[in-house]
Amino acid sequence: MSKVIKTPSMLGMLGGGQLGKFFVEAAHRMGYQVTVFDPDQESPAGKIANDHICSSFSDKSALEIMINNCKAISTEFENIPSETIKYLEEKVRTHPNSEAISIVQRRIKEKEFIKGLELPIGRYEPIKSAELFSDFEDNKIFPAILKQSKFGYDGKGQYHVNSVSETKAVLNDSNENEFVLEKKLNLDKEISVVLSRSSDGVSKIFPVIENQHKEGILDLSIIPARVNDDLKKEAVAYALKIANNLNYVGTIAVEFFISNDKLYINEVAPRPHNSGHFSLDACNVSQFDQQVLCLTNDNLLDIILEKNAVMLNLLGDLWLKNGEVKTPNFLEIEGPSINIHLYGKNQPRAGRKMGHITVVGENTEDLIIKVEEIRSKLWEM
Ligand code: ADP
Ligand code: MG
Repeated sequence: MSKVIKTPSMLGMLGGGQLGKFFVEAAHRMGYQVTVFDPDQESPAGKIANDHICSSFSDKSALEIMINNCKAISTEFENIPSETIKYLEEKVRTHPNSEAISIVQRRIKEKEFIKGLELPIGRYEPIKSAELFSDFEDNKIFPAILKQSKFGYDGKGQYHVNSVSETKAVLNDSNENEFVLEKKLNLDKEISVVLSRSSDGVSKIFPVIENQHKEGILDLSIIPARVNDDLKKEAVAYALKIANNLNYVGTIAVEFFISNDKLYINEVAPRPHNSGHFSLDACNVSQFDQQVLCLTNDNLLDIILEKNAVMLNLLGDLWLKNGEVKTPNFLEIEGPSINIHLYGKNQPRAGRKMGHITVVGENTEDLIIKVEEIRSKLWEM
């Protein structure tokens, strides 16, 4: 193993959202400094970083500053151009690698990669242009979800379609070329596996997470997932296979569908994941701590789930519910075992992730009830 990067070296973080912010906090706790690179002056991570380079990801001179300042660089956002990562990794330790990012940032490439590993994936049709789709006739794929291949997140760039003609209408209206058309599966459940993998190929795996989405956005995560051990083991094995084959270094998440008791891989996130936030409050080490340890070439820690957990996402809708912008009074829901995290975003928007709450304890069903009570209270304020 090559040398551990010592404190108080400067680390780099590409992207300044909440995932970057949690990385900065973890790095600070361990004694590192962080430079955040994000075009947004008001980015949550940029505001608490030692240095904030506020520029576009294609600005070479700004990237040069990053290279000169940082001993190692990581990311929190898969939509950073893979050329940017490539440029950086030639000059400074950068993880995850550009090849891994370039695969998972395009749904078509990602699905081909997963198929190439002979892992289970739902029925889909790659669409490389509207013209190439013009003679598609197989109605058995419907009902389906048409997903933009690039730059989708939190259900953005997705359209529910029921026929070839509906699909064509969306394609003709769009400025994007590449899409995938995915058959809608009947979901029993959704789960995710979050793991961290070091440079020498050692992986530490967080407990399997059960996820509930609303309108394509993560709403609730339940840890540990309420699925049988065989499915959990299978999911972990698939996630490891993906991380190993991407030569991945850092924290990565794999999202799964369970349909008729069978696993299907949904997508891969080359970064810590919203569903892994419970680790901040329920584990001895968080997904962000492990990301820092991966980046600095340090030994990863064995993960202990100290308490069961349920996490509730707080979206901008809660700030906007009465037709005006108003921050809910979070003091009113404070209590033991209730961990409230607000990301410091100035502008609430519908569907925008503003924070999350993790409730920890012994009994999962009790935790779910407690979280639903908190949700009602917040909405009634
Ligand atoms: P994003 O990149 O926005 O997270 P996903 O592809 O993960 O997009 O889709 C978001 C959510 O939409 C999923 O977590 C799931 O709840 C639902 N969904 C997506 N694809 C399918 C599908 N093929 N069948 C059923 N539900 C789906
Ligand atoms: Mg997803």
